[in-house]
Amino acid sequence: MDAPDARTWLRGLPKAELHLHLEGSVTPETLVELSCKNDVEPLTLEHARVIYKYEDFLSFLMSFKAVTERLKTADDYETITYNMVRDLAAQGVRHAEAYLSVGILLRFDRLHVDAVIAAAERGRARAEKDFGVSLLWIIDAVRHFGLEECAKVFSKTAELKQKYPSIVGIGIGGDEARGPAHEFRDLFQEAKDNGLHLTCHAGESTGPQSIWGAINIGAERIGHALSAQEDPELIEVLSEKQIPLELNITSNLRTGCCPELMEHPVKRYFEEGLMVTLNSDDPPFFGANLLDEYELAHRDFEFSLEQMRELAANSVEASFLAPEKKLALLGEVERYGW
Ligand SMILES: [Zn+2]
Repeated sequence: MDAPDARTWLRGLPKAELHLHLEGSVTPETLVELSCKNDVEPLTLEHARVIYKYEDFLSFLMSFKAVTERLKTADDYETITYNMVRDLAAQGVRHAEAYLSVGILLRFDRLHVDAVIAAAERGRARAEKDFGVSLLWIIDAVRHFGLEECAKVFSKTAELKQKYPSIVGIGIGGDEARGPAHEFRDLFQEAKDNGLHLTCHAGESTGPQSIWGAINIGAERIGHALSAQEDPELIEVLSEKQIPLELNITSNLRTGCCPELMEHPVKRYFEEGLMVTLNSDDPPFFGANLLDEYELAHRDFEFSLEQMRELAANSVEASFLAPEKKLALLGEVERYGW
């Protein structure tokens, strides 16, 4: 199949997005939409686009921060959630699990967490109805804000889960070097006891030790896992336990964590039998959405279309959907024709 046809096929392929940050999904167009509502002098699209420009990892974090600072009311979270799901639907995504950074909300105390979650839930319900895409939340804590700060996020999440069944998990992100996973052992255990699934960003900007740490405290999925390739023993454990890896190829390139496209281990991991999933992380910041990631894997890493189907099946398999929903969606992936 030539490239345009492959893209059409990949768009129709039912798939799940498992590593996407709600705040990182906000496009310049959505910023303008919010600004028209919030600001006396609204942003132009041209000015909005400038906010997304960065030179290196540090200025990427600053531009990410600048976008989140433009979320000025809790209601804005309804809009960004709705728009995120709308954009996912256009790529053939049927189910998504998005990180929502309660860590940032609590730390900067600009907006009330309960009001934000209620708004995001309104956006989720409305979008699910309009686009037929299911969405579950994974609450994100920022590890380098310290254990005490993270403990607040964990207890708030346990409380919110009682009210919102769509909150299914909790994860830790941020600077791995300044917040090693082993420090979170007790918080993870408590979250597990509270019925929350556990994920962990690990091996994105630091070595394989960080991934070992994540596995040892019970992380069910690993975000990035880029540095697993440096440790054959770890590769063996990941393969044996079939721990799902939420890979983000374009993100790793754009942040400089992976220096060259062809140095990315996605194909090697797949061939070594690891549980690989493709994801987009923060699409408008990296210039690639999930469909682009699928196309890139097919075109540049020469995954056959049958292998692409396998990656889509992995994404459903590794999701936190209820078993019956998982089976139904897996059936659709298998039956998807040419
Ligand atoms: Zn991430």
